Amino acid sequence: MMGGVVNGVLDAVFPAVCIGCGEEGSYICMRCEGFASEVALICPLCSQSSLTGERHSTCASRYGLEGLASCWEYEGIVKSLLHSIKYNGITHATGETIARTFAVMVQDGNRFNPFLLFLSSPNTSITYVPMYRKKERIRGFNQAEVFAKNLAKVAEKEVLGTLEKISDTKPQVDLAKEERLYNVKDAFLLLHAPELRTIEKVILVDDIWTTGATMKECCKVLKSAGVQQVWGFTVARTP
Ligand SMILES: [Zn+2]
Ligand SMILES: [Zn+2]
Repeated sequence: MMGGVVNGVLDAVFPAVCIGCGEEGSYICMRCEGFASEVALICPLCSQSSLTGERHSTCASRYGLEGLASCWEYEGIVKSLLHSIKYNGITHATGETIARTFAVMVQDGNRFNPFLLFLSSPNTSITYVPMYRKKERIRGFNQAEVFAKNLAKVAEKEVLGTLEKISDTKPQVDLAKEERLYNVKDAFLLLHAPELRTIEKVILVDDIWTTGATMKECCKVLKSAGVQQVWGFTVARTP
């Protein structure tokens, strides 16, 4: 409630300004959105092309993701936008980002249909990649959680905090691809293990997919707790 009041006041004092050109009114104006590129969908297991983001049948894995939906290429204006949210605390921009991302996915129904069907299922819950508590306290928010809340708002669902990050891992960006899986191994713990056994489907939200090491590890923990199907959702993906 208090946050809402403060945000309202901040919006009045600092109206949304386009990250790309500075025009007032939105965080990415219509013209600058034209410079954002959609990204092709991939199988979250082998990272090869998958038209709809569903994992290949030959890539089946008990603890792996069922699919991955990412909308934008992580570069240019989208990179600036996500950077502003994460490091400059422009969390107000997440609502607009999710609304635009969702609009693109609905428009591109052929590609995103499996994800949208999964999202609209009454048995699907939304959760997010957690941050190490101390880091979250310093940043003041977890951008993955803020994106999850906005996705939940659009889909008229609740967000469940299901995981806790129990070790302060090195930032994934500083590591080589092969080091990333090892870095996040056993870094996550379940928060509500008994309740999770009754949850059939989960969408795991993060801001960016790079190698997917973090999301793969979180998915493994959720599935070990009894969740049957997990889709990943990230706003952007490193092409
Ligand atoms: Zn602009
Ligand atoms: Zn595959």
